[in-house]
Amino acid sequence: MTRASTPVHRPFEEPLLRLEEAVARLLEGVAPLPAEETTLAEAAGRVLAADVVAEVALPPWDNVAMDGFAVRAGDVASATVAAPVRLRVAGEVAAGHEPSAAVEPGTALRVSTGAPLPPGADAVVPVEETSAWGGARAATGAVLGSVVEIHEAVPGGANVRPRGGDVAEGTRVLAAGERLSAGAISLVAAVGRERVAVVRRPRVAVLATGDELVSPGRPLGPAQIHDSNTAGLLVLAGRAGAEVRSLGIAPDDLDAVRERLREALGWADIVVASGGVSVGAHDVVKDAFETFGRLGFWRVAIQPGKPLAFGRASRGPGAPPGGPVLFFGLPGNPVSSQVTFELFVRPALRRLGGHPETGRRLERAVLAEEVEKSHGRRAFLRVRLAEVEGRLVARLAGAQGSHVLSALAAADALAVIPEEQDTLPPGSEVDVWRIEEA
Ligand code: AMP
Ligand code: MG
Repeated sequence: MTRASTPVHRPFEEPLLRLEEAVARLLEGVAPLPAEETTLAEAAGRVLAADVVAEVALPPWDNVAMDGFAVRAGDVASATVAAPVRLRVAGEVAAGHEPSAAVEPGTALRVSTGAPLPPGADAVVPVEETSAWGGARAATGAVLGSVVEIHEAVPGGANVRPRGGDVAEGTRVLAAGERLSAGAISLVAAVGRERVAVVRRPRVAVLATGDELVSPGRPLGPAQIHDSNTAGLLVLAGRAGAEVRSLGIAPDDLDAVRERLREALGWADIVVASGGVSVGAHDVVKDAFETFGRLGFWRVAIQPGKPLAFGRASRGPGAPPGGPVLFFGLPGNPVSSQVTFELFVRPALRRLGGHPETGRRLERAVLAEEVEKSHGRRAFLRVRLAEVEGRLVARLAGAQGSHVLSALAAADALAVIPEEQDTLPPGSEVDVWRIEEA
């Protein structure tokens, strides 16, 4: 196997970057990807690229809201249980059928929920308020269809959903930039659209690097470990809205990494490599990337995951349209790779996907135990959250080394400990950053 030639050691002159500064720099000039038309199923959770205007009113016609009898409210104004009003039942309107008759004075039409309100009627008396309801009264004849006794007065408009009452025709129901929730997808469907223009989903290619790595499913040889980063990073990217592709494992070899990156640049909007970005003799990822684009090697004041390579490159042949491809060289340690994905890659991915919010909402929790960390860096401790007597409590999910996957697996959040703190006593209130939903 060929090895990288002389490793390039870069001077560490730059001071540690603050997290916000690093994120702001990497998001500079990053804009939502171009729009595409998709089916509603494909559009869910994505961001609208164009307004949606209702070409029909909702409801499109006056719509019956309850099973019952369509009446003229004036006819039943005096109705009570003691002195019911009798109306002749002139027919029936079921959902999906046009009324065959109008409601004339002194008459009613039996109607079902979702049927058009028949002409002449201005209200619906629920079936429960008529003699058509219940055992003894069923003998009055209404059930047979000729007469109904109304036991309750209803105001005009009662139990009717008027045409346009939800959405008037011609209204903009959703605006470009809004995220399509399940409710929004139903609204788009209700106004009759089967496709919408949404921001294209970012494509994320994930590459593992390291001579020691073998894919899960293969037996370990001497000095080998399974590649655990790829599997986890693909999940994080997919959850953040990306279309994902694994580029497999590249050895610590400049040409090999270069070839994988070349392949990635012909497909991806974001390339995420893990491992090989430190200053070790075999850390070739930075040099490999510089074949294609400009790279910054940042030391961010966070723990875990200090060294981070970030760069931009032009799209390769075959790549879809969009801005420069963003490259992230994440640290190889499994916990560091996932935490730095969350802190750096996810915001970029959300921005490309058109989401207005690139970060996550922080919550407050109290620490169940004392915690320790390095001074001057913001720590993201792997914790498990629990509600205890109405308060959110964060307990360490295990040892905090950046290789400790068991703690990462047990964690559902990161507790954020500020730069200037070295230790925090139990009961301290901290920000927590949920990484897993229950
Ligand atoms: P590096 O960033 O290449 O110096 O790697 C740091 C540590 O992370 C080493 O112990 C590597 O063996 C480990 N590592 C790197 N990549 C992976 C991976 N894909 N899966 C699991 N561990 C990894
Ligand atoms: Mg390595």
